Amino acid sequence: MMLSLSTWCDVEAYLERSRSILLPIGSMEQHGPTGLIGTDALCPQIIAEAAAAEEDDILVGPTFNVGCAQHHLGFPGSITLRPSTMIAAMQDWCASLRRHGFERIYWLNGHGGNVATISAAFAEVYAERSLSGPDSEIPPLTMRQRNWWELSGVMATCQRLHPTNDGSHATASEVAVTYAAYPEQQRRVPLEPRVAPNGSFTDAEDYRSRFPDGRIGSDPSQATVEGGQEIIDAAAKALRDDYRRFAAGG
Ligand SMILES: [Zn+2]
Repeated sequence: MMLSLSTWCDVEAYLERSRSILLPIGSMEQHGPTGLIGTDALCPQIIAEAAAAEEDDILVGPTFNVGCAQHHLGFPGSITLRPSTMIAAMQDWCASLRRHGFERIYWLNGHGGNVATISAAFAEVYAERSLSGPDSEIPPLTMRQRNWWELSGVMATCQRLHPTNDGSHATASEVAVTYAAYPEQQRRVPLEPRVAPNGSFTDAEDYRSRFPDGRIGSDPSQATVEGGQEIIDAAAKALRDDYRRFAAGG
């Protein structure tokens, strides 16, 4: 069930049977010459929608699709939020959902650069209630952050498909997931060098000087539609199990 394709009456009925919601969260940032700018938002969205397709009691909310990507701003098309802006926006999303009676929010993340800020946003949401005292009128909210590639069995599938040079940015695995969902968007251009360099970075200028085409450690020319579909299937199955446990209070 998709929130954007529901009516308020549908959501009111859903809240009679569940108080949980699944929110994909990602980023809008360059993914090298062959990866789509929306990759980190698309991957969790594609996996969440696949999980929900076979399950009536998974409500998928809108994708929080711009995250912390300041280091990618040296490449056209990348958009970032400051960490403080992202925390404030997440707080407003949470407060809106809590007002309707949602008690549990599962954030399926697609961008490593979001992890610290998502954790900080959770701490802000929890602090709001803690600081309002033991008799707080703010209802409790329970949240989980899960990176899609850390769902059970997913990393094993990625390693089997791309045993070498999956990399850490613009990975063959994430590019494959987007190609499976949008096969018409595949890009097949020569990559030079074929395997991108590894290393750390600070700001946007530093990043672009170290990683001129945007990739880190990856050879995304390995990405195929068939492999991407295998990753989606494994991730959707694991997500259904993990979300079900979370929604049941686990
Ligand atoms: Zn990515």
